[in-house]
Amino acid sequence: MPDVTTPVLVVGAGPAGLATSLSLSRHGVPHLLVEKHPGTAHSPRAHIVNQRTVEICRDLGIEDRLLDVATPADLMSNNVWATSLAGRELARLETWGTSAARAADYRAASPSPMCNCPQHVLGPVLHEAIDEAGVGEVRFRHELMSLEQDADGVTAVVRDRDVERDVTVRAQYVVGADGGRSRVVELTGLPLDGEHGLAQAANVWFEADLTRFCAHRPGVLYWNASPGKDYWVGAGTFICVRPWTEWVMLFMFDPSRETVDPKDSEALRARVHKVIGDPSVDVDIKSLSFWTINHVLAERYTDGRILCMGDAVHRHPPANGLGLNTSMADGFNLAWKLAYVLDGRADPSLLDTYDAERRPVGRVTVDRAMKSVVEMAAIPAALGFEPDQDEADGWASLERLWQPGDEGDTVRAEFRAAIELTNYQYNAHGVELGYVYREGAVVPDGRPEPPNPRDPELFYRPTTTPGARLPHAWVDDGARRLSTLDLAGGGRFALLTGIGGEAWAEAAARAAEATGVEVAVFAIGTADGLVDAYGTWGDVRDVESSGCVLVRPDQHVAWRAVAATEDSLAELAGVLARVLGRAAVPA
Ligand SMILES: Cc1cc2nc3c(=O)[nH]c(=O)nc-3n(C[C@H](O)[C@H](O)[C@H](O)COP(=O)(O)OP(=O)(O)OC[C@H]3O[C@@H](n4cnc5c(N)ncnc54)[C@H](O)[C@@H]3O)c2cc1C
Repeated sequence: MPDVTTPVLVVGAGPAGLATSLSLSRHGVPHLLVEKHPGTAHSPRAHIVNQRTVEICRDLGIEDRLLDVATPADLMSNNVWATSLAGRELARLETWGTSAARAADYRAASPSPMCNCPQHVLGPVLHEAIDEAGVGEVRFRHELMSLEQDADGVTAVVRDRDVERDVTVRAQYVVGADGGRSRVVELTGLPLDGEHGLAQAANVWFEADLTRFCAHRPGVLYWNASPGKDYWVGAGTFICVRPWTEWVMLFMFDPSRETVDPKDSEALRARVHKVIGDPSVDVDIKSLSFWTINHVLAERYTDGRILCMGDAVHRHPPANGLGLNTSMADGFNLAWKLAYVLDGRADPSLLDTYDAERRPVGRVTVDRAMKSVVEMAAIPAALGFEPDQDEADGWASLERLWQPGDEGDTVRAEFRAAIELTNYQYNAHGVELGYVYREGAVVPDGRPEPPNPRDPELFYRPTTTPGARLPHAWVDDGARRLSTLDLAGGGRFALLTGIGGEAWAEAAARAAEATGVEVAVFAIGTADGLVDAYGTWGDVRDVESSGCVLVRPDQHVAWRAVAATEDSLAELAGVLARVLGRAAVPA
């Protein structure tokens, strides 16, 4: 007999596992989350929280708590390249949609701002909400040791590290959210495609008051662009953990040529001082951790009843800040499917759509992050920095930036182009919000998607194409301004319609009766419905006002109908059954 029986066992309390656990809690699905460490992340690690993740937190009821503890978007607005913080500034780039040119795009796209929230701050917010919900149980210092699955479930052995005792857990499904060294992936033998260990990185977490260097150019990343053997990203890059007193210094190193001793605080402090450029600043080293650059994607995310997510299945550099965000979105995608399958509202085949939908997003994430790292080489190249270059030669080359005449103009133009290229890393709004699930729990309508007139990586284009995230538009219920995303989500399907779409309410009721699945109907722009406050919904819905957009519990469009015709109304129950993987149910 197992010691514990649970519908879902979640392994790992990183962003992926915590988001899954909180989403399952909101759906009322009991589960057990095990984490081998004594708590959530104890160091900053990933920190960029993009608009989609804040929207997910909004749906999970913790947006305000997150924004209370995070650094706000206006303090994320500069990337700075300098010979040192006290030295010469070489360039700045306005980041994360904060420039005059990009702010409107970001504001129009979402009810939620980006923020900078390192994992050791984010983890407790998620954990507290899971605890408060009281649906799932979180056990720290519990390490997954083994897994065995059969037709009806999975038996896991989890070691309680406090008493060194093995606990047997029987679950219907196991979620492998156990990070870049995933034991779940290892045990299931999911094949991994790509390369591990492409470069070695170190994170030095430290405290130092750098207000006088940073407050006038607030940002997340301060790049040390100085010549010498550390030519690639200089001596190190400062990542703002808490303005302007707490930092991580990230640096790359070649272990075959350099030893980084975690106990040698003096050497680490000297390196921090080199990046600051002022040895008089007090620096308190808190910790050092190592990680590697990988370019890896699992060939499958799932194996029977075992479903993997986050760094377990996509491992990539931190460029573009996609790690935490993609991981939490994986969890949000899977949780509603598990909830619907477990209580019989959906067929177990719905779980197959998790891989079909999230793996292509993982592919884009892994490749985009890697490409961004490669593209960064254009910066030292433009400055004339080379590997193993004599430091004096490097400084002489740098001076060309201020040289009058054609050569100086060419260097300046190449350097600016290299900086602008990093927009694909720091203002890649299309990558962050624009992904569309082409296959999965969606019913395509056969209409060609109009091409994005702007660069699809940099610019998000709202669309109600099935599989896309529902476009945001402000609507008003007479008392409150709501996002269309607030109408969707909340664990249920939503159907958005407008003038002439009254019959959808009846069609939704019939579909609900036939499938047992609730569909909340919202009329926007009708005499007694929600007000399309700024006309935005009319602009982006891409169906006639009598048509409809059917939205899944994870706020992605499942299906749409151009107009309320007899045929389209009759189609709804069948569409819902198809999305849920069930045999067509008569309307
Ligand atoms: C040291 C370090 C530094 C990083 N720095 C950065 C950075 O600067 N910028 C950036 O963007 N990204 C960084 N990352 C990557 C980023 O943290 C991940 O992309 C993100 O956390 C992925 O979330 P996840 O939930 O999938 O995995 P993780 O956050 O790794 O969480 C996995 C969890 O599973 C637990 N676990 C593992 N095995 C078991 C087991 N057998 N039983 C129970 N629990 C288990 C782990 O203890 C961990 O808490 C860093 C990662 C690490 C490890």
